[in-house]
Amino acid sequence: MPEIQEAFELLKNYIDDFPVGLLLFNSKKELISWNKYALVLLETANEELKKGKFTQTENQINEILNTSGINEKDLVGLSKPVKLKKIIAADGNIILLVSETFQETVGEMSHELRRPITNIKTLTESLLLGAKNDPEMLKKFLEQINGEVDRLTKLVNALLNISKIKSGRLSQAKKKINLKAKADEAVKLLQPIADKNKIKITNELPDEYEIFADPEQMDHVIQNLIENAIKYSPEGANIFIRPGPSAGSFKIDDTGIGIAPNEISKIFDRFYRVDKTRAKGSSGLGLSIVKNVIDLHGGKIEVKSEPAKGSSFIIYLPID
Ligand code: ADP
Repeated sequence: MPEIQEAFELLKNYIDDFPVGLLLFNSKKELISWNKYALVLLETANEELKKGKFTQTENQINEILNTSGINEKDLVGLSKPVKLKKIIAADGNIILLVSETFQETVGEMSHELRRPITNIKTLTESLLLGAKNDPEMLKKFLEQINGEVDRLTKLVNALLNISKIKSGRLSQAKKKINLKAKADEAVKLLQPIADKNKIKITNELPDEYEIFADPEQMDHVIQNLIENAIKYSPEGANIFIRPGPSAGSFKIDDTGIGIAPNEISKIFDRFYRVDKTRAKGSSGLGLSIVKNVIDLHGGKIEVKSEPAKGSSFIIYLPID
């Protein structure tokens, strides 16, 4: 038995009573050992794993095993949120640690919610201490409070969405959708913000461009990507909605500020924002939700970007 597997078997016996899942893969990424709790968390049976099969999480587990930049991943589609951590041993064996994410999510949530609340408290206290008597200050502070409340609303809505997706409650009724029409609806909705920022949005999809997806979730994905393209582009920029390189794929291109190569792998993480001082109303949650939705569809999202030139977010969806 190879050294790492021996150590793994030993460890496995010790931790069998702990709520942590462990999976060991050899360097060919074949599953060779696991503990009991991994079965519980991944909602699968011993017999399935013996055949090397993960039921509903197969694609997501393959993604973390085969993608060198991804060392952590939230699994979607299970009844409880679960996180994977990848550890690569010196000899190429891979250990996946499986754990529940609830604790972590609650921690991050409270942290993110505390900031706007603290800001509102400071602003209202300043007003009460006398700033209210200066009409200019009064207006400025009220506007800031209003902005913070918008931010809180966005955060709470996004978190509700995440918890719905994670618990698998978000309906996933896939249908044929006319993407051109869907994108037109999103553009109409966001046109006022684009106009305000002097940004032009062009829908270049052909009239009969169809995808197979959940209509409500796709609204969310398209609006989020266009909203980001507007938020991260200077005045005079262009946004294009175009067919992607294969059937059932599409992309949102912008001529905006772009994303540095070292940031690209992080932008889908929950609460990650490249520049934390920019963009009011930014939560760092939008793309993590978009990615979850696309994962749930069995699809994939790709980003190509160059700083100061622009970004392209490409969505691939299965065609049936
Ligand atoms: P946010 O609420 O901050 O926009 P997202 O999860 O939607 O959160 O995006 C995460 C980060 O990715 C953003 O803060 C931004 O830095 C970067 N980003 C997303 N879309 C674009 C884009 N089209 N162009 C440049 N940067 C982007």
